[in-house]
Amino acid sequence: MSEMEKTQKAPKAQVKKNDQVLVMAGRNRGVKSRVLRVMPGEGRAVVEHVNMIKRHTRQNPQKGVQGGILEREGTIHLSNVKVICPECGEPTRVGRTRLEDGKGMRVCKKCNAKF
Ligand SMILES: [Zn+2]
Repeated sequence: MSEMEKTQKAPKAQVKKNDQVLVMAGRNRGVKSRVLRVMPGEGRAVVEHVNMIKRHTRQNPQKGVQGGILEREGTIHLSNVKVICPECGEPTRVGRTRLEDGKGMRVCKKCNAKF
């Protein structure tokens, strides 16, 4: 990441790639799944098998693309997912803390586990 990007203010996302999350809203409300991608700038994330959208694709033999309907994950707003604590397994709010070596960690508000 360049210095420019570092100084730009993107809200710190509490959710990270590969987190287990609970979906709080939308069609997949109540589903627990894994975060595939986080877009902090947009405040959105892609969660596995959540918010599936159908995309109609045209056949393109040169690129080896088969035509038809492709299902892909759409994005979901970060406020609509809750991180599931890897320690206590509960959907929780997360705080932040900094270890002595300066490494940032997240803290489960329920069991105080750092992760
Ligand atoms: Zn916990």
